[in-house]
Amino acid sequence: MNVKTRIAPSPTGWLHIGTARTALFCYLYAKHHGGTFAVRSEDTDRVRSLPEYEEEILAGLKWLGLEHDEFVRQSERVSRHKELLETLVAEGTAYISEEESKSEAGKTVQVVRLKNPGKSVTFTDLVRGEITFDTADLGDFVIARAIDDPLYHFAVVVDDMDMEITHVIRGEDHISNTPRQILIQEALGAPRPKYAHLPLILAADRTKLSKRHGATSIADYRNEGFLPEAMVNFIGMLGWNPGNDREEYSLAEFVEAFELDGVQKHGAIWNREKLLDVNQQWMRKLSDEEFIAQGSLSSPDNSKLQKIVPLLKERAKTFAEARDMITGELNCLFTAPTLDLALLTSKSDATAVHLRALLELHEGLADDMTPDEIKALLMPYADGISKEEGGRGAALWPLRYALSGEERSPDPFTLISILGLEESRVRIQNALDILG
Ligand code: GLU
Repeated sequence: MNVKTRIAPSPTGWLHIGTARTALFCYLYAKHHGGTFAVRSEDTDRVRSLPEYEEEILAGLKWLGLEHDEFVRQSERVSRHKELLETLVAEGTAYISEEESKSEAGKTVQVVRLKNPGKSVTFTDLVRGEITFDTADLGDFVIARAIDDPLYHFAVVVDDMDMEITHVIRGEDHISNTPRQILIQEALGAPRPKYAHLPLILAADRTKLSKRHGATSIADYRNEGFLPEAMVNFIGMLGWNPGNDREEYSLAEFVEAFELDGVQKHGAIWNREKLLDVNQQWMRKLSDEEFIAQGSLSSPDNSKLQKIVPLLKERAKTFAEARDMITGELNCLFTAPTLDLALLTSKSDATAVHLRALLELHEGLADDMTPDEIKALLMPYADGISKEEGGRGAALWPLRYALSGEERSPDPFTLISILGLEESRVRIQNALDILG
């Protein structure tokens, strides 16, 4: 069988995490089986659908690497929907019913209702097993507001049929829609696709993930500087289990490993802390050049920027954090510090003595030494200061402060390695000048 899946977002909002996860699973299932992945923009809600949402959803899917093989816009298929509504009416499996409008009092409308055989419908869900619904309670339900204005259930069934969708993979919130859609399929004589309903994504409090739990759109994460590889890795593990404890997957590796039997029945918890860690892992895989480019990092001094990438990789979990570090705690590397005498001498009365001694040792450093090599040469002096005289902090604190002008900054050895010998010498000398 030629597998074909589709993601069918309604362009009434930004690309949501849940839609992205469904799209990913549709993509993975299709690609794992050498099949086709389609996107269908379900834009029949004429009031709430906007082209910019559609554009943004497509851009988001593309950013994640979920390139589609086929694109369909539902609003462009209205004449086909109308044709099949007319067929059903002609065949007597549906009928036009003149009813009072719900939105405009006193006005009558001609809705189309399906003649419901009122039987019980059973389908096999590839995630949840056999599911049975008694459809008698649904009555003759409405399938179109007018002969040229189909409702969601009807449009979905017609489009899935025409597009030859073999597997409908979608959120669990659609389970209760399935029996209606099966009745419509049967009326149309359409083949029944296989169904797989995915567990919902929940917040830590086990309620449905929503805005009040934080960012829920892919664009928010993209803007915050998450990598698409990390998003794919993280959302791919939401409700899917490879059957072993492996946690790192690229998109291609997911394609290789993905099967629907790994999909869990219970809800999947959205855990931002975990996502941050996954993102950091993927950020660390980048070369320093890629890191700067992908993070859109810039600074007044490019050679220093190169040198701080290891620091950023160690500390930042998103590129937004990396950018904040450059303009925040690492800004001291790009601007000469203004020192406060009281702070400079706050750890020791012998600050000037210590800085002079350290400056002498500094003369013995070579260009391009690593922080560890610098530390090996300077630390013995600091270690030699007795506890009564303030211990190593009596020398290291003023050294670090002289170099950074900040109460919080990277350690002095790292600062020297990034600033370079000349600039760090000038900064220490400047502190000594202030001390008089
Ligand atoms: N437009 C529907 C939605 O966004 C698609 C449902 C389906 O996949 O059948 O929820």
